[in-house]
Amino acid sequence: METKYIFVTGGVVSSLGKGIISSSLACLLKARGYRVTIQKFDPYINIDPGTLNPYEHGECYVTVDGHEADLDLGHYERFTNIRTTRANNVTTGRIYQNVIDKERRGDYLGKTVQIVPHITDEIKRNVMLLGKTGNFDFVITEIGGTVGDIESRPFLEAVRQLRWELEDNCLCIHLTYVPYIRAAKELKTKPTQHSVNQLQQVGIQPDILVLRTEHQIPASTLKKIAQFCNVSPDAVVQSVDAPSIYKVPLMMHAQGLDQAVLRKMELPINGEPDLTSWQRFLDLMDSAEQKVTIGLVGKYVELQDAYKSINEALFQAATYCSRKLDLRYIHSEKLNSGNVDELLSGLDGVIIAPGFGQRGIEGKFIALEWCRTHDLPTFGICLGMQCMVIEFARNVLGLADANSTEMDPNTAHNVIDLMEDQKSIHNMGGTMRLGAYDCHLKEGSRVAQAYGATEISERHRHRFEFNNDYRERFEKAGMKCVGENPDTKLVEVVELPDHRWFIGTQYHPEYSSTVLSPSPLFLDFMKASIQYQETKK
Ligand code: GLN
Repeated sequence: METKYIFVTGGVVSSLGKGIISSSLACLLKARGYRVTIQKFDPYINIDPGTLNPYEHGECYVTVDGHEADLDLGHYERFTNIRTTRANNVTTGRIYQNVIDKERRGDYLGKTVQIVPHITDEIKRNVMLLGKTGNFDFVITEIGGTVGDIESRPFLEAVRQLRWELEDNCLCIHLTYVPYIRAAKELKTKPTQHSVNQLQQVGIQPDILVLRTEHQIPASTLKKIAQFCNVSPDAVVQSVDAPSIYKVPLMMHAQGLDQAVLRKMELPINGEPDLTSWQRFLDLMDSAEQKVTIGLVGKYVELQDAYKSINEALFQAATYCSRKLDLRYIHSEKLNSGNVDELLSGLDGVIIAPGFGQRGIEGKFIALEWCRTHDLPTFGICLGMQCMVIEFARNVLGLADANSTEMDPNTAHNVIDLMEDQKSIHNMGGTMRLGAYDCHLKEGSRVAQAYGATEISERHRHRFEFNNDYRERFEKAGMKCVGENPDTKLVEVVELPDHRWFIGTQYHPEYSSTVLSPSPLFLDFMKASIQYQETKK
């Protein structure tokens, strides 16, 4: 089958959940046996979101091949169980960088380099890259931003051209918003009409409309939208606010989204997508009654999206343990020795979050000392693991000024330090230790039991590392280095075996946790937290 291209654009407002709709459609097409991938084109000029502050852009997701990517790629993986790569996320910055590199090499043979055709051609080339591998039946391309933005114009022009070039192998889905005006008690369709109009002005006629709404849209209104927007009535789908994002694929199927796509592409609609495992997950979610209370200690707790993958990994693990996740965010800057008892007692488990820089770090040490001395199930991720090491050095090894050289470059006890190859790096973009690395787990350790394996691979995003000069002192005092990189001997996992569950990972296991294959380590942490809860009864 020739590769089919689906473009997903958005209008009226941002944050409508284009990523969730794209992921849900991919999930449905995959469940029908098609080979699917999703890619995101972001109109901002940064080369990638790696240097963006979480306040700007939420979490930075990392692909196995070491690309710092938009957090929507996390949704793509969680919904489809398919690994994404650098090719799945392209920004305006990358497009311009490629074009400028080509211009410097003389590839344009003296031509004036322009937005049309050079930038648009480069966008088109990137759109087609994954499709050309022959590995996919469907390539879903989400265009970031909102129709009408100056930044997204070249992307929409590329989509307009591709529609002609790809003929029947291409379709456009436009996502808009249908607001409910309470005073008038009415759902309003005008913003959708305007938005479709804007898309038409740049030469794109949407084939399918997905309408985000907080209230059920009546059939007559759907018909009216179809009529005014030149879309067939069976291609107007509504997406009412869902109690969980994981219900959206089924809601979209019930509304006929996957069927509309197949119909437009002239593909057979053979029976139903196989959503058995997905449905089993939803059933567990709906039937869970008892809670499990997990605290997340971090400095971005007011930001919904800053710890997206951790939230989702915890939610998946809790669901598979038939529990409702009660996640409490604990602001590391506000945590002190006066309130730690009040904030942490009552929790069943604690996550010490990843992060960068000094802000909020002392709160993490106070939390960790409390967790360690109260034997609470505790999971440190990346900076969280580094904090576990520092707290142990200070309070157990007696190295009062132990630190990471990230926080104190002159510390006498640099238990966490930069590796030699990081010391000469001045460029901040894309230069961390990024992507999947192999890790050997010590036989018999709790982590090895959790994974049911001793050879694993997980994704990284950090510059600093455990300082192996201190390894023996840690091990003697009870903090075991139970995971290491087989080539570099860098420490990847530490564990206190005499505790209920006290594990820190230099890597980020949350990135690889999906609905259909949840992270074994998050599952084990969740089980330990539930076991601890039971002991308190
Ligand atoms: N700031 C730490 C480092 O660079 C940890 C990074 C993280 O938590 N992702 O090593």
